[in-house]
Amino acid sequence: RHDPQGGAHFLEDESTKNFARKVADHYSARSNQTLEEREASPIIHLKKLNNWIKSVLIQLYARRGDAVLDLACGKGGDLIKWDKAKIGYYVGIDIAEGSIKDCRTRYNGDADHHQRRKKFTFPARLICGDCYEVRLDKVLADDAPFDICSCQFALHYSWSTEARARQALANVSALLRPGGIFIGTMPDANVIVKKLKEAEGLTFGNSVYWVRFDEEFSEKKFKSSSPFGIKYTFHLEDAVDCPEWIVPFHVFKSLAEEYDFELVFAKNSHEFVHEYMKKPEFVELMRRLGALGDGNQDHSTLSADEWEAAYLYMSFVLRKRGQPDKS
Ligand code: SAM
Repeated sequence: RHDPQGGAHFLEDESTKNFARKVADHYSARSNQTLEEREASPIIHLKKLNNWIKSVLIQLYARRGDAVLDLACGKGGDLIKWDKAKIGYYVGIDIAEGSIKDCRTRYNGDADHHQRRKKFTFPARLICGDCYEVRLDKVLADDAPFDICSCQFALHYSWSTEARARQALANVSALLRPGGIFIGTMPDANVIVKKLKEAEGLTFGNSVYWVRFDEEFSEKKFKSSSPFGIKYTFHLEDAVDCPEWIVPFHVFKSLAEEYDFELVFAKNSHEFVHEYMKKPEFVELMRRLGALGDGNQDHSTLSADEWEAAYLYMSFVLRKRGQPDKS
């Protein structure tokens, strides 16, 4: 295969590793919040909205008994969602040692800071590793194939180089069964680029977030077939402060097709909310989570700045080609 890094191979490799470490250290250092701290967060409703989006995706696509691969699982914030879907098995992987440690604590049921709850009903394996650097097919040979893979708010960390973006997709493709589902959320590159163009200079944001590009944005690179390594810094109040990479969706879709995926849908978070808030069961879920007040679409409890930050994200669903085994 063509080496996307060409002559600057060594330098690129080193800085890519440094950035991956920076991302890992950032997430590792984020300590668990108490329930009170969480409720006082300036982005509490955005967090709840994002939890609602992830819950809807899980409820739409997970089936009872499914084997689940959670790439970049973080502290295990989705464990309860998977439990509600009555899955049969869970493998979570994350690059941040601190997050995997918290995830293990949460899975084991002790010191769960959000709620006292019964043990999870599914067995789980939790691993610390770089899902975009390492071939996972051998590591997880005994756990595969998976019915569903989830990568929430994390796939964009693979777009620092073409090799990593490909490794991410190759891993998911190799581990999913034919007909298996890949769900995820990530920044919406079209929105970020549109906002950058509207901004004066290389930065934009509001009271809850800012985005800063270090270099002049290259439209040519963004529109090319090789738009990897388009870096910006993302700051989300009380949550993120990290180097991130643009994922132009049209290239993501065609790269995914190379790895045997077909697109089921892709939607910006605003569109996602409007579409699934038409369904009573998801309105009820929103009410219970408390992201949008009484479940009206007036975003009454979500601030305008949080709603604008929500617009920076999108969800996608891909299906691995082929027919599931009948047996
Ligand atoms: N998926 C979790 C959730 O939705 O709650 C965590 C999302 S958090 C915004 C992003 C996560 O991606 C962090 O836990 C971070 O450590 C993880 N991550 C970033 N780069 C990664 C990599 N190369 N391999 C595995 N995990 C990675």
